[in-house]
Amino acid sequence: MFVGKYERTAKNKKEESEVYEEYKKEIVEYGRKILNSNHVVGTSGNISVRIGNTSLFAITPSGMPYEELTVDDIPIIDVKGERIEGTKKPSIEVRMHGLIYEHYPDVRAIVHTHSVYTTVLSLIRKPLPIINETMVMVGDVPVAEFARTGSLELAENVTKALKGRRAVILANHGLLCVGKSLKESFALCEEIERDAQIYVLALSTGMSVHIIPEEEAKKTREWLSKNYGQ
Ligand SMILES: [Zn+2]
Repeated sequence: MFVGKYERTAKNKKEESEVYEEYKKEIVEYGRKILNSNHVVGTSGNISVRIGNTSLFAITPSGMPYEELTVDDIPIIDVKGERIEGTKKPSIEVRMHGLIYEHYPDVRAIVHTHSVYTTVLSLIRKPLPIINETMVMVGDVPVAEFARTGSLELAENVTKALKGRRAVILANHGLLCVGKSLKESFALCEEIERDAQIYVLALSTGMSVHIIPEEEAKKTREWLSKNYGQ
């Protein structure tokens, strides 16, 4: 498959567009899913997917309702922010997506939501600790330092907080999950929001909240990776 920047002949451009089309369809499909999941309202949140092994990604456009999106609305952007294809402006958080893809070659898809309980944790600056066996596998979820929406500073803070992690809470803002596919990143956001709800409810009782110690988490992780599933 082609890589980020190379000489684009008419033939290549046609081939490229055919490849992009599949990824654009995925963005449209997951845009609908994210809207129906209650993790976002209106046009908030954004999702992207890397094009194969390249430095390019397809991303939701800025300020367009998810339910109205078509493949023609999805721009193709390179990690430096240059628009390679499409006429619509990319999501306001395009720098955050670009910087993450640039720093973490394994990341194939990013889902950013404004999920309620995760945002509650962001207001009180509490990371989501390892509270159950799902979180044992995911690991704890840190809160990145606050920065303005759409800023390079936010992109840098989130990229830094993501080191060795699969998800990050954005201060006074929401959640960001990465994975090997949109399916995986989306499922992770759903799971983390559910666990954030459990944790917030536990905190709100005012009683002491017990989390799984790291040593025990490590043992459980090893055991589950050997024994869970078919
Ligand atoms: Zn946001």
